[in-house]
Amino acid sequence: MGDPLRCRACRRPDPTTVDHDIPFGPQCARCWAGAEIRCANRQALDEYAAAPPPPAEPRCRHCETLQDRYETGYDRWVLLEPGTALPWHLIPLGHRWTLAGDGKAVNLGTRRLPGGVRCRFPHALVCPCDEQPEVLRPFFTALWEEDEHRYRSHRPPGIDDFPGTDPPAYG
Ligand SMILES: [Zn+2]
Ligand SMILES: [Zn+2]
Repeated sequence: MGDPLRCRACRRPDPTTVDHDIPFGPQCARCWAGAEIRCANRQALDEYAAAPPPPAEPRCRHCETLQDRYETGYDRWVLLEPGTALPWHLIPLGHRWTLAGDGKAVNLGTRRLPGGVRCRFPHALVCPCDEQPEVLRPFFTALWEEDEHRYRSHRPPGIDDFPGTDPPAYG
């Protein structure tokens, strides 16, 4: 046994240091845990998966309406527009979600999918507190307008507005 590996992040020799390959290199356990959290945080921001976890209510923190909340595979939660699934190619790249058998939400990334596959998408794409989605397809603008109308009418959303707290089944 030689000297412990030197952690690339904190530059200390540390017996918990493990080489995590390119681009991370050798990192001690503490730095690696921090790196994993930063990666998850970055991914969560990119994917709009920064929802409040349970037991907080699954409300959008901007428009405060109840959403469909699912856990992701990286310990973050995403709010998906309730009860809406679209043909995958209509949803912007990187925002195509599906529900796995374990009930978690999976972002399908940029891969091509078979025709007929429908995906869920984050509420953030059509949140009425955000800019009207000019660059998105007309369908999203229509959804945004619908959500905005609901938002402006100040009708407190009731549980009946979101039938079925179970994950909806989509063929
Ligand atoms: Zn370190
Ligand atoms: Zn919202």
